[in-house]
Amino acid sequence: MSLLISETFTSLQGEGKLTGVPTWFVRLSGCNLRCTWCDTPYASWDPEGPVRTVAEIVREAVSHREASGVRHAVLTGGEPMLPPAIVPLSRALRDEGFHITIETAGTIVRPVACDLMSLSPKLANSTPIGDPRDPSGAWASRHEQRRLNAQSLRILWHGSPEFARTTDRQCKFVVKGEDDLPEIESVLALLDEGRTDDERTPPSDILLMPEGTTEPTPGARDTVQRICMRTGFRYCTRLHIHLYGDTRGT
Ligand code: SF4
Repeated sequence: MSLLISETFTSLQGEGKLTGVPTWFVRLSGCNLRCTWCDTPYASWDPEGPVRTVAEIVREAVSHREASGVRHAVLTGGEPMLPPAIVPLSRALRDEGFHITIETAGTIVRPVACDLMSLSPKLANSTPIGDPRDPSGAWASRHEQRRLNAQSLRILWHGSPEFARTTDRQCKFVVKGEDDLPEIESVLALLDEGRTDDERTPPSDILLMPEGTTEPTPGARDTVQRICMRTGFRYCTRLHIHLYGDTRGT
């Protein structure tokens, strides 16, 4: 089986619970959404890259691990859950002993092997209304219909009879302002619908990140840190932006 691959690279994980951990990344190209602030448009708005087989990608990961000792793998995108070949890819990497993080918007479920499920549900602030790349508005309307799929989010987050809950999980939101908080709370209510108090998502699994592909402005930082102090959610930095700027392959 094969996949469209935008890039593979090694860097320090820049976001989330594993921030700072040396990691091998594989970025799948192609996405079913079109966030207006997407920081990887070469894997969404203009998907690029060669088609590569699962076996080839796994060989590269293993040979890189032998040279560097890096045992964490991140499958990201684009939307990595879009191509069915994510399933054999994730399972083959797991069989090779990698710790696997999957970074997904949570609109599609596939029976992947995964250790850290990293969901990033897209809020209304992502919809490309008036975006010059979408003159007819067709993507804005598709994006709006697809961006929150309650059933997929719940399965990826809590597991189901067909999909084992992952060992660890995090749910990241890109925040533009205080106005985003009611929608974040409604997404969390969707995630936890029908759950007992013990099963509910702890605030420490919720990460808020200021929107942007550069260092956040003091105003954006203050807004997110204020929300975190009030709610108990985690403030999520972008270490790769801090270290390397908005540079591909980091
Ligand atoms: S879901 Fe991710 S890859 Fe797809 S458009 Fe949004 S930010 Fe970009």
